[in-house]
Amino acid sequence: MTKLIQHFINGRIAESSSGREQDVFNPATGEVSARVVLASEAEVNAAVAAAKAAAPAWADTAPLKRARVLAKFRDLIEQHHNDLAAAITREHGKVFSDAKGEVVRGLEVVEFACGAPQLLKTQFTDNIGGGIDNWQMRQPLGVTAGITPFNFPFMVPMWMAPMAIATGNTFILKPSERDPSPSLMVADLFKRAGLPDGVFNVVQGDKVAVDALLHHPDVQAVSFVGSTPIAEYIYTEGTKRKGAYPLRVQALGGAKNHLVVMPDANLDQAVDALIGAAYGSAGERCMAISVAVAVGSVADKLVEALIPRVESLKVKNGMEADAEMGPVVTAQHKAKIEGYIEQGVSAGAKLLVDGRGLSVPGHEKGFFLGGTLFDHVTPEMTIYKEEIFGPVLCVVRVPDFASAVKLINSHEFGNGVSLFTSDGNTAREFSRRIEVGMVGVNVPIPVPMAWHSFGGWKRSLFGDTHAYGEEGVRFYTRYKSIMQRWPDSIGKGAEFTMPVAK
Ligand code: NAD
Repeated sequence: MTKLIQHFINGRIAESSSGREQDVFNPATGEVSARVVLASEAEVNAAVAAAKAAAPAWADTAPLKRARVLAKFRDLIEQHHNDLAAAITREHGKVFSDAKGEVVRGLEVVEFACGAPQLLKTQFTDNIGGGIDNWQMRQPLGVTAGITPFNFPFMVPMWMAPMAIATGNTFILKPSERDPSPSLMVADLFKRAGLPDGVFNVVQGDKVAVDALLHHPDVQAVSFVGSTPIAEYIYTEGTKRKGAYPLRVQALGGAKNHLVVMPDANLDQAVDALIGAAYGSAGERCMAISVAVAVGSVADKLVEALIPRVESLKVKNGMEADAEMGPVVTAQHKAKIEGYIEQGVSAGAKLLVDGRGLSVPGHEKGFFLGGTLFDHVTPEMTIYKEEIFGPVLCVVRVPDFASAVKLINSHEFGNGVSLFTSDGNTAREFSRRIEVGMVGVNVPIPVPMAWHSFGGWKRSLFGDTHAYGEEGVRFYTRYKSIMQRWPDSIGKGAEFTMPVAK
Protein backbone atom coordinates (compact mmCIF):
# COMPACT_ATOMS: atom_id res chain seq x y z
CA MET A 1 0.00 0.00 0.00
CA THR A 2 1.25 3.51 -0.78
CA LYS A 3 2.52 5.37 2.28
CA LEU A 4 0.44 8.41 3.26
CA ILE A 5 2.40 11.34 4.68
CA GLN A 6 0.39 13.15 7.37
CA HIS A 7 0.52 16.26 9.55
CA PHE A 8 2.28 16.51 12.92
CA ILE A 9 0.28 18.56 15.39
CA ASN A 10 0.69 18.93 19.15
CA GLY A 11 3.40 16.31 19.47
CA ARG A 12 1.83 13.55 17.38
CA ILE A 13 0.93 12.50 13.86
CA ALA A 14 -2.46 13.99 13.02
CA GLU A 15 -4.47 12.18 10.37
CA SER A 16 -6.02 14.43 7.82
CA SER A 17 -9.69 14.27 6.98
CA SER A 18 -9.53 16.90 4.25
CA GLY A 19 -10.00 14.28 1.55
CA ARG A 20 -7.23 15.95 -0.48
CA GLU A 21 -3.97 14.22 -1.31
CA GLN A 22 -1.27 14.25 -3.95
CA ASP A 23 1.46 11.96 -5.25
CA VAL A 24 5.08 12.18 -4.10
CA PHE A 25 7.55 10.82 -6.64
CA ASN A 26 10.98 9.25 -6.57
CA PRO A 27 12.47 11.38 -9.36
CA ALA A 28 15.16 8.80 -10.16
CA THR A 29 12.64 6.08 -11.01
CA GLY A 30 9.65 8.22 -11.93
CA GLU A 31 7.53 6.10 -9.58
CA VAL A 32 5.10 7.29 -6.93
CA SER A 33 6.88 6.67 -3.62
CA ALA A 34 4.15 8.00 -1.32
CA ARG A 35 1.15 10.29 -1.16
CA VAL A 36 0.91 13.42 0.95
CA VAL A 37 -2.22 14.85 2.53
CA LEU A 38 -3.17 18.45 1.78
CA ALA A 39 -4.54 20.36 4.76
CA SER A 40 -7.93 21.98 4.97
CA GLU A 41 -8.29 25.35 6.67
CA ALA A 42 -9.69 23.56 9.75
CA GLU A 43 -6.53 21.44 10.00
CA VAL A 44 -4.34 24.54 9.83
CA ASN A 45 -6.51 26.09 12.54
CA ALA A 46 -5.91 23.03 14.73
CA ALA A 47 -2.14 23.43 14.29
CA VAL A 48 -2.33 27.13 15.14
CA ALA A 49 -4.44 26.35 18.23
CA ALA A 50 -1.84 23.82 19.40
CA ALA A 51 1.00 26.27 18.78
CA LYS A 52 -0.89 29.05 20.57
CA ALA A 53 -1.58 26.87 23.60
CA ALA A 54 2.11 25.90 23.85
CA ALA A 55 3.40 29.45 23.36
CA PRO A 56 3.18 31.02 26.86
CA ALA A 57 5.03 28.21 28.67
CA TRP A 58 7.70 28.02 25.96
CA ALA A 59 8.19 31.79 26.01
CA ASP A 60 8.66 31.57 29.79
CA THR A 61 11.17 28.74 29.55
CA ALA A 62 14.67 30.02 30.28
CA PRO A 63 16.69 30.52 27.06
CA LEU A 64 19.33 28.17 28.42
CA LYS A 65 16.76 25.39 28.80
CA ARG A 66 15.47 26.03 25.32
CA ALA A 67 19.05 25.84 24.08
CA ARG A 68 19.56 22.49 25.81
CA VAL A 69 16.63 21.02 23.85
CA LEU A 70 18.19 22.35 20.66
CA ALA A 71 21.53 20.86 21.63
CA LYS A 72 19.90 17.42 21.94
CA PHE A 73 18.11 17.98 18.66
CA ARG A 74 21.47 18.80 17.12
CA ASP A 75 22.97 15.52 18.33
CA LEU A 76 20.00 13.58 16.97
CA ILE A 77 20.40 15.20 13.56
CA GLU A 78 24.01 14.10 13.54
CA GLN A 79 23.02 10.54 14.50
CA HIS A 80 20.42 10.48 11.71
CA HIS A 81 22.52 12.31 9.15
CA ASN A 82 22.41 9.45 6.60
CA ASP A 83 18.67 8.77 7.07
CA LEU A 84 17.83 12.42 6.53
CA ALA A 85 20.06 12.63 3.47
CA ALA A 86 18.59 9.43 1.99
CA ALA A 87 15.05 10.81 2.47
CA ILE A 88 16.10 14.01 0.68
CA THR A 89 17.61 12.09 -2.25
CA ARG A 90 14.57 9.80 -2.48
CA GLU A 91 12.08 12.64 -2.92
CA HIS A 92 14.19 15.49 -4.33
CA GLY A 93 16.63 13.52 -6.47
CA LYS A 94 19.87 15.36 -5.60
CA VAL A 95 22.93 13.15 -5.17
CA PHE A 96 23.42 11.63 -1.73
CA SER A 97 26.70 13.43 -0.96
CA ASP A 98 24.99 16.76 -1.77
CA ALA A 99 22.02 15.81 0.42
CA LYS A 100 24.47 15.10 3.24
CA GLY A 101 25.91 18.58 2.69
CA GLU A 102 22.42 20.04 2.91
CA VAL A 103 21.95 18.37 6.30
CA VAL A 104 25.21 19.90 7.54
CA ARG A 105 24.20 23.40 6.39
CA GLY A 106 20.92 23.01 8.31
CA LEU A 107 22.72 21.64 11.33
CA GLU A 108 24.90 24.74 11.46
CA VAL A 109 21.87 26.96 12.04
CA VAL A 110 20.78 24.64 14.88
CA GLU A 111 24.25 25.03 16.38
CA PHE A 112 23.97 28.81 16.10
CA ALA A 113 20.51 28.72 17.71
CA CYS A 114 22.00 26.75 20.63
CA GLY A 115 23.56 30.08 21.59
CA ALA A 116 20.10 31.42 22.51
CA PRO A 117 21.16 32.92 25.88
CA GLN A 118 23.92 34.89 24.17
CA LEU A 119 21.72 35.82 21.19
CA LEU A 120 19.00 37.19 23.44
CA LYS A 121 21.41 39.03 25.73
CA THR A 122 20.97 42.75 25.25
CA GLN A 123 22.52 46.03 26.33
CA PHE A 124 22.28 47.84 29.65
CA THR A 125 23.16 51.42 30.55
CA ASP A 126 23.68 52.18 34.18
CA ASN A 127 22.33 55.58 35.14
CA ILE A 128 21.16 57.34 31.99
CA GLY A 129 20.45 60.19 34.45
CA GLY A 130 18.59 60.77 37.69
CA GLY A 131 19.21 57.25 38.94
CA ILE A 132 17.47 55.70 35.95
CA ASP A 133 18.85 52.59 34.28
CA ASN A 134 17.94 51.68 30.70
CA TRP A 135 18.01 48.22 29.09
CA GLN A 136 16.34 46.19 26.37
CA MET A 137 14.51 42.93 25.91
CA ARG A 138 13.90 40.87 22.81
CA GLN A 139 10.64 39.05 23.41
CA PRO A 140 9.11 36.23 21.37
CA LEU A 141 6.21 36.97 19.05
CA GLY A 142 4.08 33.87 19.78
CA VAL A 143 2.95 31.60 16.94
CA THR A 144 5.19 31.75 13.88
CA ALA A 145 5.11 29.83 10.60
CA GLY A 146 7.45 28.83 7.80
CA ILE A 147 6.59 27.92 4.22
CA THR A 148 9.41 26.19 2.40
CA PRO A 149 10.43 25.16 -1.14
CA PHE A 150 11.17 21.72 -2.56
CA ASN A 151 14.83 22.27 -3.27
CA PHE A 152 16.10 22.16 0.33
CA PRO A 153 13.52 20.14 2.27
CA PHE A 154 15.74 20.00 5.37
CA MET A 155 18.04 23.02 5.23
CA VAL A 156 15.49 25.75 4.58
CA PRO A 157 13.15 24.64 7.42
CA MET A 158 16.30 24.76 9.59
CA TRP A 159 16.85 28.41 8.59
CA MET A 160 13.58 29.12 10.37
CA ALA A 161 12.42 26.66 13.03
CA PRO A 162 15.53 26.58 15.27
CA MET A 163 15.72 30.39 15.24
CA ALA A 164 12.02 30.78 16.06
CA ILE A 165 12.13 28.14 18.78
CA ALA A 166 15.40 29.32 20.37
CA THR A 167 13.96 32.82 20.70
CA GLY A 168 10.87 31.48 22.51
CA ASN A 169 8.25 31.17 19.77
CA THR A 170 6.21 28.21 18.65
CA PHE A 171 6.40 27.20 15.00
CA ILE A 172 4.33 25.64 12.24
CA LEU A 173 6.14 24.30 9.17
CA LYS A 174 4.33 24.02 5.84
CA PRO A 175 6.89 22.12 3.76
CA SER A 176 6.85 21.62 0.02
CA GLU A 177 4.28 19.04 -1.03
CA ARG A 178 6.83 17.66 -3.50
CA ASP A 179 9.24 16.31 -0.84
CA PRO A 180 7.43 16.31 2.50
CA SER A 181 9.10 13.36 4.33
CA PRO A 182 12.05 15.19 5.95
CA SER A 183 9.57 17.48 7.76
CA LEU A 184 8.16 14.56 9.75
CA MET A 185 11.63 13.25 10.52
CA VAL A 186 12.46 16.69 11.93
CA ALA A 187 9.26 16.63 14.02
CA ASP A 188 10.21 13.23 15.41
CA LEU A 189 13.74 14.37 16.29
CA PHE A 190 12.44 17.51 18.01
CA LYS A 191 10.07 15.37 20.09
CA ARG A 192 12.85 12.97 21.03
CA ALA A 193 15.01 15.95 22.02
CA GLY A 194 12.38 16.88 24.60
CA LEU A 195 10.65 19.76 22.84
CA PRO A 196 7.22 20.24 24.48
CA ASP A 197 4.18 19.28 22.41
CA GLY A 198 2.82 22.07 20.26
CA VAL A 199 6.10 24.00 19.97
CA PHE A 200 6.90 22.50 16.54
CA ASN A 201 4.10 21.42 14.21
CA VAL A 202 3.90 20.37 10.57
CA VAL A 203 0.95 20.92 8.25
CA GLN A 204 1.26 19.35 4.84
CA GLY A 205 -0.45 21.15 2.04
CA ASP A 206 -0.68 23.60 -0.80
CA LYS A 207 -2.15 27.08 -1.34
CA VAL A 208 -5.11 26.29 0.94
CA ALA A 209 -2.78 25.74 3.91
CA VAL A 210 -0.61 28.74 3.00
CA ASP A 211 -3.60 31.08 2.79
CA ALA A 212 -5.01 29.76 6.07
CA LEU A 213 -1.68 30.49 7.80
CA LEU A 214 -1.41 33.95 6.22
CA HIS A 215 -4.91 34.97 7.28
CA HIS A 216 -5.01 33.44 10.76
CA PRO A 217 -5.08 36.24 13.34
CA ASP A 218 -3.01 34.22 15.83
CA VAL A 219 -0.06 33.77 13.48
CA GLN A 220 2.42 36.55 14.23
CA ALA A 221 5.13 35.97 11.64
CA VAL A 222 5.51 34.09 8.37
CA SER A 223 8.86 33.27 6.85
CA PHE A 224 8.67 32.12 3.25
CA VAL A 225 11.25 30.75 0.84
CA GLY A 226 10.29 29.87 -2.72
CA SER A 227 9.77 31.34 -6.16
CA THR A 228 9.40 35.10 -6.69
CA PRO A 229 5.74 35.17 -7.80
CA ILE A 230 4.68 33.29 -4.65
CA ALA A 231 7.07 35.31 -2.45
CA GLU A 232 5.53 38.52 -3.74
CA TYR A 233 2.04 37.15 -3.16
CA ILE A 234 2.89 36.07 0.40
CA TYR A 235 4.43 39.44 1.21
CA THR A 236 1.62 41.50 -0.33
CA GLU A 237 -1.17 39.38 1.10
CA GLY A 238 0.48 38.94 4.52
CA THR A 239 1.30 42.60 5.06
CA LYS A 240 -2.28 43.61 4.25
CA ARG A 241 -3.36 42.37 7.64
CA LYS A 242 -4.41 45.22 9.91
CA GLY A 243 -4.74 45.18 13.68
CA ALA A 244 -2.58 45.76 16.70
CA TYR A 245 0.10 43.40 15.49
CA PRO A 246 0.43 43.39 11.68
CA LEU A 247 1.78 40.09 10.36
CA ARG A 248 5.55 40.10 10.10
CA VAL A 249 6.62 38.67 6.75
CA GLN A 250 9.94 37.84 5.19
CA ALA A 251 9.68 36.23 1.75
CA LEU A 252 12.80 35.02 -0.03
CA GLY A 253 12.25 34.54 -3.74
CA GLY A 254 13.90 33.31 -6.90
CA ALA A 255 17.20 34.10 -8.52
CA LYS A 256 19.33 34.41 -11.62
CA ASN A 257 22.89 34.25 -10.38
CA HIS A 258 25.81 35.39 -12.51
CA LEU A 259 29.45 34.36 -12.32
CA VAL A 260 31.79 36.85 -13.95
CA VAL A 261 35.02 35.50 -15.40
CA MET A 262 37.63 38.23 -15.83
CA PRO A 263 40.48 37.77 -18.34
CA ASP A 264 42.92 37.62 -15.41
CA ALA A 265 41.03 34.81 -13.64
CA ASN A 266 42.55 31.38 -13.22
CA LEU A 267 40.57 29.65 -15.98
CA ASP A 268 40.76 26.12 -14.54
CA GLN A 269 39.40 27.37 -11.24
CA ALA A 270 36.63 29.33 -12.95
CA VAL A 271 35.60 26.31 -15.03
CA ASP A 272 35.52 24.00 -11.99
CA ALA A 273 33.46 26.62 -10.16
CA LEU A 274 30.98 26.97 -13.02
CA ILE A 275 30.51 23.23 -13.47
CA GLY A 276 29.80 22.67 -9.76
CA ALA A 277 27.66 25.76 -9.29
CA ALA A 278 25.60 25.41 -12.48
CA TYR A 279 25.01 21.67 -12.51
CA GLY A 280 25.23 20.67 -8.82
CA SER A 281 21.78 19.62 -7.59
CA ALA A 282 20.72 19.75 -11.29
CA GLY A 283 20.70 23.55 -11.04
CA GLU A 284 17.84 23.40 -8.53
CA ARG A 285 19.45 25.76 -6.03
CA CYS A 286 18.51 29.36 -5.43
CA MET A 287 22.25 30.04 -5.37
CA ALA A 288 23.02 28.01 -8.51
CA ILE A 289 24.97 29.90 -11.13
CA SER A 290 22.88 30.05 -14.28
CA VAL A 291 24.77 32.77 -16.18
CA ALA A 292 28.49 32.85 -16.93
CA VAL A 293 29.52 36.40 -17.85
CA ALA A 294 32.64 36.11 -20.00
CA VAL A 295 34.59 39.36 -20.05
CA GLY A 296 36.60 40.28 -23.15
CA SER A 297 39.16 37.84 -24.47
CA VAL A 298 38.29 35.06 -22.03
CA ALA A 299 35.05 34.01 -23.79
CA ASP A 300 36.29 31.56 -26.44
CA LYS A 301 38.72 29.84 -24.05
CA LEU A 302 36.03 29.56 -21.38
CA VAL A 303 33.44 28.04 -23.70
CA GLU A 304 35.96 25.58 -25.17
CA ALA A 305 36.88 24.41 -21.68
CA LEU A 306 33.26 24.13 -20.54
CA ILE A 307 31.92 21.98 -23.42
CA PRO A 308 33.73 18.68 -22.62
CA ARG A 309 33.06 19.11 -18.92
CA VAL A 310 29.32 19.53 -19.46
CA GLU A 311 29.22 16.63 -21.90
CA SER A 312 30.92 14.30 -19.44
CA LEU A 313 28.79 15.04 -16.36
CA LYS A 314 27.83 11.79 -14.60
CA VAL A 315 24.05 11.99 -14.51
CA LYS A 316 22.60 9.10 -12.51
CA ASN A 317 20.42 8.01 -9.66
CA GLY A 318 21.67 10.17 -6.79
CA MET A 319 22.25 7.15 -4.55
CA GLU A 320 25.03 5.89 -6.84
CA ALA A 321 28.41 6.68 -5.39
CA ASP A 322 29.91 8.42 -8.42
CA ALA A 323 26.79 10.38 -9.44
CA GLU A 324 27.51 14.08 -10.02
CA MET A 325 24.00 15.11 -10.96
CA GLY A 326 20.65 13.47 -10.27
CA PRO A 327 17.25 13.93 -11.90
CA VAL A 328 15.09 17.04 -11.60
CA VAL A 329 12.21 16.96 -9.17
CA THR A 330 9.14 16.11 -11.28
CA ALA A 331 8.11 15.31 -14.84
CA GLN A 332 6.36 18.73 -15.06
CA HIS A 333 9.51 20.53 -13.98
CA LYS A 334 11.54 18.58 -16.54
CA ALA A 335 9.07 19.59 -19.28
CA LYS A 336 9.28 23.23 -18.15
CA ILE A 337 13.09 23.22 -18.41
CA GLU A 338 12.92 21.57 -21.85
CA GLY A 339 10.52 24.34 -22.87
CA TYR A 340 13.12 26.94 -21.85
CA ILE A 341 15.79 25.15 -23.89
CA GLU A 342 13.49 25.24 -26.92
CA GLN A 343 12.87 28.96 -26.35
CA GLY A 344 16.62 29.61 -26.18
CA VAL A 345 17.14 27.87 -29.52
CA SER A 346 14.28 29.80 -31.17
CA ALA A 347 15.59 33.09 -29.79
CA GLY A 348 18.93 32.49 -31.50
CA ALA A 349 21.19 31.47 -28.62
CA LYS A 350 23.85 28.95 -29.63
CA LEU A 351 23.10 25.55 -28.06
CA LEU A 352 26.50 23.99 -27.47
CA VAL A 353 25.42 21.05 -25.31
CA ASP A 354 21.82 19.81 -25.37
CA GLY A 355 20.75 17.85 -22.28
CA ARG A 356 17.38 16.84 -23.65
CA GLY A 357 16.60 13.26 -24.51
CA LEU A 358 19.01 11.74 -21.98
CA SER A 359 18.14 8.20 -20.96
CA VAL A 360 19.78 6.74 -17.86
CA PRO A 361 20.10 2.94 -18.15
CA GLY A 362 17.89 1.19 -15.59
CA HIS A 363 16.09 4.48 -14.86
CA GLU A 364 14.37 5.15 -18.16
CA LYS A 365 11.31 6.62 -16.45
CA GLY A 366 13.32 8.92 -14.17
CA PHE A 367 13.11 12.70 -14.61
CA PHE A 368 16.62 13.06 -16.01
CA LEU A 369 18.06 15.85 -18.10
CA GLY A 370 21.68 16.20 -19.10
CA GLY A 371 23.70 19.35 -18.59
CA THR A 372 22.87 22.05 -21.13
CA LEU A 373 25.12 24.88 -22.28
CA PHE A 374 24.19 27.95 -24.31
CA ASP A 375 26.57 30.56 -25.74
CA HIS A 376 25.81 34.02 -27.17
CA VAL A 377 22.86 34.53 -24.85
CA THR A 378 21.66 38.14 -24.77
CA PRO A 379 19.78 40.09 -22.07
CA GLU A 380 16.52 40.22 -24.07
CA MET A 381 16.18 36.45 -24.23
CA THR A 382 13.72 34.69 -21.93
CA ILE A 383 16.39 32.15 -20.97
CA TYR A 384 18.43 35.07 -19.61
CA LYS A 385 15.59 36.94 -17.94
CA GLU A 386 13.77 34.11 -16.20
CA GLU A 387 14.84 31.61 -13.58
CA ILE A 388 15.02 28.18 -15.27
CA PHE A 389 15.92 26.24 -12.10
CA GLY A 390 17.51 23.39 -14.00
CA PRO A 391 20.90 22.26 -15.35
CA VAL A 392 21.17 24.99 -17.97
CA LEU A 393 24.10 27.41 -18.10
CA CYS A 394 23.96 30.50 -20.32
CA VAL A 395 27.14 32.26 -21.42
CA VAL A 396 26.77 36.01 -21.98
CA ARG A 397 29.73 37.77 -23.58
CA VAL A 398 30.53 41.36 -22.52
CA PRO A 399 33.43 43.60 -23.57
CA ASP A 400 34.62 44.80 -20.16
CA PHE A 401 34.17 44.85 -16.39
CA ALA A 402 31.85 47.87 -16.42
CA SER A 403 29.47 46.12 -18.84
CA ALA A 404 29.45 43.03 -16.60
CA VAL A 405 28.44 45.12 -13.58
CA LYS A 406 25.79 46.98 -15.61
CA LEU A 407 24.33 43.72 -16.95
CA ILE A 408 23.99 42.21 -13.47
CA ASN A 409 22.64 45.37 -11.88
CA SER A 410 19.96 45.58 -14.58
CA HIS A 411 18.55 42.15 -13.75
CA GLU A 412 15.42 42.04 -11.61
CA PHE A 413 16.89 39.39 -9.29
CA GLY A 414 19.72 40.00 -6.86
CA ASN A 415 20.26 36.84 -4.84
CA GLY A 416 23.85 35.69 -5.34
CA VAL A 417 26.74 36.64 -7.62
CA SER A 418 30.34 35.64 -8.06
CA LEU A 419 33.46 37.14 -9.58
CA PHE A 420 36.56 35.22 -10.62
CA THR A 421 39.62 37.45 -10.83
CA SER A 422 43.15 37.71 -9.50
CA ASP A 423 43.00 41.49 -9.17
CA GLY A 424 42.23 42.88 -5.73
CA ASN A 425 41.01 46.22 -6.95
CA THR A 426 38.55 44.65 -9.40
CA ALA A 427 37.26 42.47 -6.58
CA ARG A 428 36.86 45.43 -4.26
CA GLU A 429 35.06 47.55 -6.86
CA PHE A 430 32.79 44.63 -7.71
CA SER A 431 31.82 43.97 -4.08
CA ARG A 432 30.99 47.63 -3.57
CA ARG A 433 29.13 48.34 -6.83
CA ILE A 434 27.13 45.17 -7.36
CA GLU A 435 23.43 45.26 -6.42
CA VAL A 436 23.15 41.73 -5.11
CA GLY A 437 22.67 40.46 -1.54
CA MET A 438 25.37 37.76 -1.44
CA VAL A 439 28.69 38.20 -3.22
CA GLY A 440 31.47 35.69 -3.82
CA VAL A 441 34.98 36.63 -4.89
CA ASN A 442 36.55 33.48 -6.31
CA VAL A 443 33.77 31.68 -4.39
CA PRO A 444 31.05 30.38 -6.72
CA ILE A 445 28.20 29.85 -4.25
CA PRO A 446 28.45 32.46 -1.51
CA VAL A 447 26.00 31.06 1.04
CA PRO A 448 26.68 32.87 4.32
CA MET A 449 27.43 30.81 7.41
CA ALA A 450 24.82 30.41 10.14
CA TRP A 451 25.98 33.49 12.07
CA HIS A 452 25.98 35.70 8.96
CA SER A 453 22.50 36.16 7.57
CA PHE A 454 21.19 34.90 4.21
CA GLY A 455 19.18 36.89 1.71
CA GLY A 456 19.09 38.61 -1.64
CA TRP A 457 18.18 42.07 -2.92
CA LYS A 458 15.57 43.34 -5.35
CA ARG A 459 12.98 40.73 -6.38
CA SER A 460 14.88 37.98 -4.58
CA LEU A 461 13.65 39.11 -1.14
CA PHE A 462 10.53 40.87 0.06
CA GLY A 463 10.77 42.23 3.60
CA ASP A 464 13.41 43.93 5.68
CA THR A 465 15.26 41.11 7.39
CA HIS A 466 17.37 38.35 5.94
CA ALA A 467 17.18 34.76 7.20
CA TYR A 468 18.99 33.25 10.23
CA GLY A 469 21.98 34.80 12.02
CA GLU A 470 21.33 38.02 13.92
CA GLU A 471 18.74 39.10 11.35
CA GLY A 472 16.82 35.93 12.21
CA VAL A 473 16.88 36.84 15.90
CA ARG A 474 15.46 40.24 15.03
CA PHE A 475 12.77 38.76 12.80
CA TYR A 476 11.50 36.42 15.51
CA THR A 477 11.55 38.87 18.42
CA ARG A 478 9.99 42.15 19.38
CA TYR A 479 12.25 44.81 20.81
CA LYS A 480 11.37 46.50 24.08
CA SER A 481 13.30 49.22 25.93
CA ILE A 482 12.94 49.58 29.68
CA MET A 483 13.80 52.56 31.89
CA GLN A 484 13.67 51.98 35.60
CA ARG A 485 14.44 53.79 38.81
CA TRP A 486 13.65 53.21 42.47
CA PRO A 487 11.77 55.55 44.80
CA ASP A 488 14.85 56.93 46.60
CA SER A 489 16.13 58.54 43.42
CA ILE A 490 12.85 60.22 42.46
CA GLY A 491 12.77 63.98 43.07
CA LYS A 492 9.62 65.67 44.31
CA GLY A 493 7.13 67.37 42.02
CA ALA A 494 5.77 66.90 38.50
CA GLU A 495 8.08 67.66 35.58
CA PHE A 496 6.66 69.42 32.55
CA THR A 497 9.77 69.71 30.45
CA MET A 498 11.34 67.07 28.19
CA PRO A 499 13.31 64.72 30.46
CA VAL A 500 17.05 65.26 29.98
CA ALA A 501 20.02 63.93 31.92
CA LYS A 502 20.83 66.26 34.77
P1 NAD B 1 7.31 27.52 -5.01
O1 NAD B 1 7.23 28.99 -4.92
O2 NAD B 1 6.57 26.81 -6.08
O3 NAD B 1 6.82 26.86 -3.63
C1 NAD B 1 7.30 27.30 -2.38
C2 NAD B 1 6.22 27.06 -1.34
O4 NAD B 1 5.06 27.82 -1.68
C3 NAD B 1 5.77 25.61 -1.24
O5 NAD B 1 5.62 25.28 0.12
C4 NAD B 1 4.45 25.60 -1.97
O6 NAD B 1 3.54 24.66 -1.46
C5 NAD B 1 3.91 27.00 -1.75
N1 NAD B 1 3.07 27.46 -2.87
C6 NAD B 1 3.18 27.09 -4.17
N2 NAD B 1 2.25 27.73 -4.90
C7 NAD B 1 1.56 28.52 -4.06
C8 NAD B 1 0.48 29.43 -4.23
N3 NAD B 1 -0.07 29.65 -5.43
N4 NAD B 1 0.03 30.09 -3.15
C9 NAD B 1 0.57 29.89 -1.95
N5 NAD B 1 1.59 29.03 -1.72
C10 NAD B 1 2.08 28.35 -2.76
O7 NAD B 1 8.87 27.17 -5.07
P2 NAD B 1 9.54 25.76 -5.31
O8 NAD B 1 9.38 25.38 -6.73
O9 NAD B 1 9.15 24.78 -4.26
O10 NAD B 1 11.07 26.12 -5.02
C11 NAD B 1 11.92 26.65 -5.98
C12 NAD B 1 11.97 28.14 -5.91
O11 NAD B 1 12.38 28.56 -4.62
C13 NAD B 1 12.97 28.76 -6.86
O12 NAD B 1 12.40 29.92 -7.41
C14 NAD B 1 14.14 29.11 -5.97
O13 NAD B 1 14.96 30.15 -6.43
C15 NAD B 1 13.43 29.51 -4.73
N6 NAD B 1 14.31 29.43 -3.57
C16 NAD B 1 14.77 30.61 -3.05
C17 NAD B 1 15.63 30.57 -1.98
C18 NAD B 1 16.16 31.85 -1.41
O14 NAD B 1 16.77 31.78 -0.36
N7 NAD B 1 15.95 33.00 -2.01
C19 NAD B 1 16.02 29.35 -1.43
C20 NAD B 1 15.53 28.18 -1.97
C21 NAD B 1 14.66 28.23 -3.05
